Amino acid sequence: MSAAPAGTKGNPLGGEAIHDELDRRAAEVADQVVAWRRHLHRHPELSNREVNTARLVADRLRALGLDEVRTGIAGHGVVGVLRGARAGERVVALRADMDALPVRDLCGTEFAAETVDSDYPGGPFPVSHACGHDCHTAALLGAATVLAGARDRLPGTVLFVFQPAEEGPPVTEQGGARAMVEAGAFAGPVPTMAFGLHVTPHPKGYVGYRVGNQYGASTLVRIVVTGEQTHGSTPWEGVDPMPAVGAVLTGIGQLYRQVSAFDPVTVSIGHVEDVGRFNIVGQTVTLWGTVRCAVEADTARVKDRLTTLAEHSAAAYGATATVEYLQSVPPVHNSGPWVEAGLPTFRRVVGEERVVETGGTLGYDDVSEFVSRFGGLYVMLGVQDATLDASGRPVPVPGGRGLVTNHNPHFYADDDTLVTGVRLHAHVAYDHLAGTLVPRAAG
Ligand SMILES: [Zn+2]
Ligand SMILES: [Zn+2]
Repeated sequence: MSAAPAGTKGNPLGGEAIHDELDRRAAEVADQVVAWRRHLHRHPELSNREVNTARLVADRLRALGLDEVRTGIAGHGVVGVLRGARAGERVVALRADMDALPVRDLCGTEFAAETVDSDYPGGPFPVSHACGHDCHTAALLGAATVLAGARDRLPGTVLFVFQPAEEGPPVTEQGGARAMVEAGAFAGPVPTMAFGLHVTPHPKGYVGYRVGNQYGASTLVRIVVTGEQTHGSTPWEGVDPMPAVGAVLTGIGQLYRQVSAFDPVTVSIGHVEDVGRFNIVGQTVTLWGTVRCAVEADTARVKDRLTTLAEHSAAAYGATATVEYLQSVPPVHNSGPWVEAGLPTFRRVVGEERVVETGGTLGYDDVSEFVSRFGGLYVMLGVQDATLDASGRPVPVPGGRGLVTNHNPHFYADDDTLVTGVRLHAHVAYDHLAGTLVPRAAG
């Protein structure tokens, strides 16, 4: 945390300067935010199963006396509506995602989860907040507390958007950000800005931003390679799908050479599902993976080449392949005018030296559905024992817990950074409603 810069003191209304008040209220709620975070971390829920998380969120929002608390939106989505007491036309949507991942929790804290979801499709799975959405949810509850306390001074409306299924629901279900939009979560009032953040392996308390695509476009891919089942001792009596699968996996490594090396692309197969046995050549093998493109325009080409690769590799071995693309998510795009408008706020919250430009990544976040519709911003919040090297890249601090990527079982986020998330949400919300965080040109 940094001292408030000149300009926020000396309130003409004679009371406490608003940004100081937001910071004071954030400090007051900080311990509670840590407690919420630890509780959520210990009780993680998979995408589209955020029953208890959503209940906790709704209960807290109701306790704050918000004007409305809407629940059950696109599954377990919750939207709290806070109308400020002062006149204002603007509406800011602050968003947190609530779901956890099918990853064992090896974060090493006393509040590590031991949860197993036995009923989830494809499971049972160990469950943990390996992407840090527990931090997002707790920080936004903290911001709701701060802003509800300051509602007399708010010139506009704040929507607290708690989103389910950011990590992608089971393929047989709908869910996530787009489903919330389609369910009418933003039908009224319509946001004039959306804001989201993500905890990340950057130095603690740093805000990373990028003009352009912060995150890439994403598509889930399912490839089913079909042969003909037979006895393991007589493969020639059937069609073995395994060699075709091997060819597809190897060939994927060559797809990169068909896209400009200056716009990164990844295709990863993270899950292979077969129906064979050591003495049975199985009928089918299903590959599950993800396609990420830094530039959305590359997506169609990569999908096309991957489909060709799978179909023809399978054909070479007498098998067939079907390729489907599911759960497409557009890139998270920060426009230049919005970033320019947001930088003074970020610098006030964390200090100028801690606001850094970062490269884009091929992660995805379906907050893009909100930011691209309503305008707004998305930033990274550093939460690990890191520092920046001479080229601006995060490197581990000696003696610290190291750099651990999201989705790794060892992923961790320091409790001390949560209050920074609270302050970011609160300052962004106030500044937008007050008209100081508004893009000058159409964004
Ligand atoms: Zn994630
Ligand atoms: Zn995430």
